[in-house]
Amino acid sequence: MRQLTIAIDGYSSCGKSTLAKEIAQKLNYIYADSGAMYRAVTLHMLNKGILKDGAFITAQAVQELKDINIRFEFDSKVNRSETYLNGINVEKDIRNSRITKHVSVISAVKEVREKLVEIQQEMGVEGGVVMDGRDIGTVVFPNAEIKLFMTASNQIRAERRYKELKEKGENISLEQVATDLQKRDHYDMNREISPLRKAEDAIEIDNSELDRTHQLELALSIIDKKKVQLEEKV
Ligand code: C5P
Repeated sequence: MRQLTIAIDGYSSCGKSTLAKEIAQKLNYIYADSGAMYRAVTLHMLNKGILKDGAFITAQAVQELKDINIRFEFDSKVNRSETYLNGINVEKDIRNSRITKHVSVISAVKEVREKLVEIQQEMGVEGGVVMDGRDIGTVVFPNAEIKLFMTASNQIRAERRYKELKEKGENISLEQVATDLQKRDHYDMNREISPLRKAEDAIEIDNSELDRTHQLELALSIIDKKKVQLEEKV
């Protein structure tokens, strides 16, 4: 049977990437983090001084896109794919609060999305990919065999993100983290192009009360059921 395409969308800090990575590992599929690509573009725009204090001139940002090359490379030492921006490993640089704060304005630009969606679709041509993001089931892979939509309560998401940032040594309060999360979700859900939304045929997983093991079990059982249905159709 052809390898499947698995699209995982949802709000920020819902554990999408954790689940996507675990599914990919279990099925021996490629894991692709579409958010990392939007983060890398944001880093580039900040480095070039095009994006400053949350503001930028769209024409300048669009002009800059041709000089941006993003790819993932698997590092067997850490057993994961890392993000490269113009040949430089930026995996750590794209995960801090500065990028998180600015990424939504950059990812709302039509040309940015067009460029990244094209790369993402190429990654999924052969199937055997688990991609997480905001528009994967709706725009990038509308025909994905499996679509999951992740949610969790605001409180739980803020606590998870807060813990992550504290572990990285960032000095931020839980209240600030909660406010930032809500702002980002609001922006992502209300942008004109490819807003964050659940695809009609996506299955929702609320993991507020689920630990990693149970979440993975649930997702794998959904995938297995779908595989049986697809085999029956053949
Ligand atoms: O998933 P992550 O938090 O790394 O995504 C960072 C940001 O990138 C999101 O808040 C959103 O603005 C943008 N994004 C997007 N479409 C995707 C993935 C991420 O617009 N498919």
